[in-house]
Amino acid sequence: MIYIVVPCYNEEAVLAETTRQLANVIQTLVRPARILYVDDGSRDGTWPLIERLGREYAEVRGVRLAHNVGHQQALWAGMEHVADEAEAIVSIDADLQDDVDVIGRMVKDYAEGADVVYGVRASRATDSVFKRWTAQAFYRFMTAMGSETVYNHADFRLLSQRALRALLAHHERNLFLRGMVPLLGFNVRKEYYDRKERQAGESKYPLSKMLSLAVDGVTSFSVKPLRLIMIMGLAFILIALGVILWALVEYVRGNTIQGWTSLLVSLWFVGGTILLALGVTGEYIGKIYKEVKHRPLYFIMDEVGK
Ligand code: UDP
Ligand code: MG
Repeated sequence: MIYIVVPCYNEEAVLAETTRQLANVIQTLVRPARILYVDDGSRDGTWPLIERLGREYAEVRGVRLAHNVGHQQALWAGMEHVADEAEAIVSIDADLQDDVDVIGRMVKDYAEGADVVYGVRASRATDSVFKRWTAQAFYRFMTAMGSETVYNHADFRLLSQRALRALLAHHERNLFLRGMVPLLGFNVRKEYYDRKERQAGESKYPLSKMLSLAVDGVTSFSVKPLRLIMIMGLAFILIALGVILWALVEYVRGNTIQGWTSLLVSLWFVGGTILLALGVTGEYIGKIYKEVKHRPLYFIMDEVGK
């Protein structure tokens, strides 16, 4: 059984249409499939609607979370919920922005042996200029900060059971699935599609949530910002050495006023030393952070002679 996992937060405006389209897609799949709606503590009529859809469609299942925990966590909850039953899962947003027909291609890839299939946006024509620009800046920033993400891939993806198990073996609390899935490995494929407009309702990702996702993406993935502090400290100390030399020369030549040399020298040198010390401390914090995460060290993909 393949499960299509759909996190929903206040999505009553779109769910009926989503269900209709997903049910149609399921008819065409080469494997049997079901839909799992995860109601992420919605405050509108999303849950009663899911209950109704569950009666109307044999393939609809639902779980309701007690509290709004956010998109990533809701998706995680859904994946854990079906992990034992599902031979593969497809995660997709409720709003039909991602092309549901790609699910067929993903499942075909899976049938051919793929473990992870990324849905990748070929174009962002329907996004506003602002959204496009911020999204692009986001991917660049993430890469620069040392967290490996797939360009223009959000959370539309297929995971085989073993990839799902590997993902669920991560014990971190700050979830940034787009950064975690590339850590898994296994057989990876990409499927390209054009992202559409939201079918109904409005975005549940205002700028504030986007920013907090970006910050999470960096800080729950990489300790690079900490290392940058150290590098900055070293750079400042180097600059300080130059400044010291220059200030001394000026002092000897008698071009300076009282106190300038000592002030300038200590300013740069002390500043650099503080940054360096912070960076070194940061390195240790980074190590602790990695230990605390308790990430699995490896996943076995194939075995011979079993
Ligand atoms: N979502 C959720 N919990 C939240 C916010 C969003 O489960 O706290 C779901 C939402 O219902 C949708 C998906 O996450 O299925 C993506 O949200 P949205 O489409 O609003 O984001 P956008 O496409 O605007 O970035
Ligand atoms: Mg959306």
